[in-house]
Amino acid sequence: MKKKLLFTAAWLLAAGSLLAQPKVIAHRGYWTAPESAQNSLASFTKADAIGAFGSEFDVWMTADDKLIVNHDKVYKGTDINMEKATAKEVTQIVLPNGENIPTLDQYLQLAAQKPATRVILEMKTLSDYNREDLAAEKIVKALKKYGLVERTDIISFSLNACLAFKKLLPDTNIYYLNGDLTPKSIQRLGLAGIDYSEKVLRKHPEWVKQAHELGLEVNVWTVDKEESMKYFIDLGVDYITTNYPEKLQAMLK
Ligand code: MG
Repeated sequence: MKKKLLFTAAWLLAAGSLLAQPKVIAHRGYWTAPESAQNSLASFTKADAIGAFGSEFDVWMTADDKLIVNHDKVYKGTDINMEKATAKEVTQIVLPNGENIPTLDQYLQLAAQKPATRVILEMKTLSDYNREDLAAEKIVKALKKYGLVERTDIISFSLNACLAFKKLLPDTNIYYLNGDLTPKSIQRLGLAGIDYSEKVLRKHPEWVKQAHELGLEVNVWTVDKEESMKYFIDLGVDYITTNYPEKLQAMLK
């Protein structure tokens, strides 16, 4: 009997540590896969196909107040600035996999058809707070249109944007990216957690435990090396954002 109890306890401990494994988020979608590209529709489809927990992408608001999905402010090899160009100009850009830069509408329409993958939406820091507030309103409207509010987490380097989303979607998990606030400050602001760079969290590994004790979650980006993946798995973060989601999945098996 005692032996059986011990065995059960050991099994529960093992199961507990399995459950506590970090979840895998594909950074800018699974763009390192064949025929994919950063922030392309294909990158979301490919993240979904491998069973990633979530797929991250970046959102800008154009000069004519439309939302598009892209990372850099100025698209490499062009002089097209996401905030200064119109949506028509931006969406004419062709990505390395042959797709055009997608609108947020196209992106969410696709995400709505892939119910197993969590939507990790990053709103980029815009040129002023008014534009950020407007972009946040428009993003929330789009998420509602596609029934995606419950399946979306929001992340931003802009504290103003985080707080604008918090006002609009009080029950949605919003994570701050900029790495300059302690877990205690994040909790006071009512945000769900910290989503900090590898560099910041290696400097402040104690923030993981502090965050957990405050009921917050921790995501780390962008973790691509095997040694770093192992470090953050052992540190007990909740999510790892990586350009190589299948590599991380293999390590977690
Ligand atoms: Mg991003």
